[in-house]
Amino acid sequence: MIPINNNVVKKVFKKIREYQKIVVARHVGPDPDAIASTIALRDSIRLTFPEKEVVAVGLGVSKFKYYGILDKIEPEQYQGCLLIVLDVPNINRVDGIDGLAYQEIMKIDHHPAEDIKGPVDWTDETSCSTCQMIAELILKTPLKLDTKIAGNLYLGIVSDSDRFLLSYTTNKTFQVVHDLIRASKLDFTSLYNYLYDRSLDEVKFQGYIAMNMKVTENGLGYLVIPSDIIKEYHVDLATPANLINSFNFIREVTVWTFITEDVKNKVYKVSIRSHGPIINELASKYHGGGHKYASGARITSEEEVESFIKDLDALCEEYKRASISNL
Ligand code: AMP
Repeated sequence: MIPINNNVVKKVFKKIREYQKIVVARHVGPDPDAIASTIALRDSIRLTFPEKEVVAVGLGVSKFKYYGILDKIEPEQYQGCLLIVLDVPNINRVDGIDGLAYQEIMKIDHHPAEDIKGPVDWTDETSCSTCQMIAELILKTPLKLDTKIAGNLYLGIVSDSDRFLLSYTTNKTFQVVHDLIRASKLDFTSLYNYLYDRSLDEVKFQGYIAMNMKVTENGLGYLVIPSDIIKEYHVDLATPANLINSFNFIREVTVWTFITEDVKNKVYKVSIRSHGPIINELASKYHGGGHKYASGARITSEEEVESFIKDLDALCEEYKRASISNL
């Protein structure tokens, strides 16, 4: 059995049971964990309580349509609802809740806590993904599971843990996955195409990154990607973030970042990964945040790009110096 924080799981279930109207939301620019957890929780609540009105909101992403369709709502119809926020700790990054007069907010998330705090809050930084937490919730309460819900949760877990590679992967992750597969009889190997199917253009773009990434003597790998390059390779602004984990395990690189120009919104979208220094504190100085070793930021000028790269390199230098003196 999964050793989990039963108290908070019970409280989460009680809150769900209490409300007739429920809106489930997640962060802007969603990844598979955010999309899959939102749709899986909505579908499980619908299956368990058919009389409730429960929706999952936020902008749809066509390449994630396998997970399910998101709901378009009139916010007035959901006045006084319970808002469940998944995979995001800051209210200004929650997608699709403009004009929603909710009664209470409840967060379920694996990021470090920030400003969202409802009467019931389940934050577990040790969880590899929000999907792992939703799977725990469903497995430990009367919430129902079917094969589609299990498949969504499985893909969210596999994606956010980068195929069980990242350090957030624990024995509990494997326990949850084991219980999920056993309870749903999921044919999980048939699902990988939904996660890993990609175009030849994307593979070529990965080659472009490999050929052009600069690496400093302190072990910072970085690349500023102009919008022309995104166009030339027929990829989109989310592609660099999708590819960033593929640059793990490079001997010369401790921290790596892709800084992508978004001309339309006059911003640079930044993805950062580390297998050394903690990076989310630096990310928060650049309008970002995230996990200790996987963060994102938004930068608004070329000058800020320069200072961001300098700051990140200084962090790598400090880490390198400390590592050498510990030898
Ligand atoms: P990404 O590189 O886009 O995959 O993001 C890595 C992690 O950082 C994820 O957990 C995101 O939710 C988080 N993140 C990305 N961008 C931001 C931002 N602007 N503010 C706060 N957190 C972010």
